[in-house]
Amino acid sequence: MIAGFIVCALVGYYLLDTAANLLNLRYLKEEVPEDFAGIYDAQRYKRSQQYTKAKTELEIVSSTLMLVALLLFWWLNGFDRLDVWLRTFNLGDFWTGFLYIGILAAGHELLDLPFAVFRTFGIEERFGFNRTTWQTFVSDHLKNWAISAIVLGAFLAILFWLLLTFGLPVWPIAWLITASLAVLLTYLAPAIILPLFFKFQSMPEGELRDAVTAYCQHQNFAVRDLLVIDGSRRSSKANAFFTGFGRNKRVALYDTLINHHPIPELVSVLAHEVGHFKKRHVLQHFLLAQLGLFLMFWLASYCLAWPALFAAFGVSHMSYYVGLTLFSLLMQPLGIVFGILTYAWSRRHEFEADRFAAETVGDPAPLVDALIRLSKDTLHNLTPHPLLVSLHATHPPVPQRVRALRNLARSSAMTNDK
Ligand SMILES: [Zn+2]
Repeated sequence: MIAGFIVCALVGYYLLDTAANLLNLRYLKEEVPEDFAGIYDAQRYKRSQQYTKAKTELEIVSSTLMLVALLLFWWLNGFDRLDVWLRTFNLGDFWTGFLYIGILAAGHELLDLPFAVFRTFGIEERFGFNRTTWQTFVSDHLKNWAISAIVLGAFLAILFWLLLTFGLPVWPIAWLITASLAVLLTYLAPAIILPLFFKFQSMPEGELRDAVTAYCQHQNFAVRDLLVIDGSRRSSKANAFFTGFGRNKRVALYDTLINHHPIPELVSVLAHEVGHFKKRHVLQHFLLAQLGLFLMFWLASYCLAWPALFAAFGVSHMSYYVGLTLFSLLMQPLGIVFGILTYAWSRRHEFEADRFAAETVGDPAPLVDALIRLSKDTLHNLTPHPLLVSLHATHPPVPQRVRALRNLARSSAMTNDK
């Protein structure tokens, strides 16, 4: 029964996702959308569609392979065999659990590796975005794995110790510790992890620094540091973000963004990010994620002691580590539903942040220009299929954002007339 449910959920989602991807390809329009005519020449627009097509094809191949690998592993009784083999070493549940989850995670990474290579050196290279050398690619991956191993390791160590010492009723404390770890990570990541990948430099004195400082002061937005990141070492794509909390906030702009946009556009992009802060979007998303996690821990406290779940995967020996692995598979359908809801919420927040930027800058035009320039430079798909948007998109399609901003301009122009 449970096995049937999980298979249906996994295959069902795979089919839905693939259908969304295929629909998305058919949804690509021949002619440039109205708002973008004149900015996008036909050739550049065609190229954006080829880029979408190349990425989608890779996505379909990779998700197919991942699903087949998982089902095959399950069918060959991999979950039980791995456990039985590891337990012959008599390391105890704590270390066996570490190895069990570690080996599965490593297997997943190895399967994904060829796709990561092809994504960077095949597709991104072909469309002229890639700036990553093989050396950077290898060192990035090694660093990523080391960081994941440390974070996942610390998390599992605490979780296993709690479970093995106090049993399943300890779940609220396990959740509380996980939530605290998440806060700590959000705080530490920009200070410790990001500098492992990027070089941060203080924004040089000049017009841009003055404009950004003036905007932040005007908005009463305390910033400790203005930084420039050398994103161009990896990709020609641009980005901007904030890190830190309270008075410790830092603003970071990619050098690629600075090099391609005039100052009013840069201030607008920044204003959009300030909007996310002022409207408390960041906090709301964090709280929602913790709520989701709370629900997960609560459900896990039942599922880890549920013999039918182990039986469904042919696992003979009930343990916390195998239970957690199987539970994560069982929870995938719930995760997808949760994702669809949070993405919709997040898309609404994007409109709100756009509106905030337009209002505080006093003009939606620079943000419109920035959005159009960004989508043109990154060969962004302007007409994603609605199904794909609802399954995956944290941001609304750019034409919708542009239209909302232009409507804003129109309605404020009408109020000014009065
Ligand atoms: Zn945003």
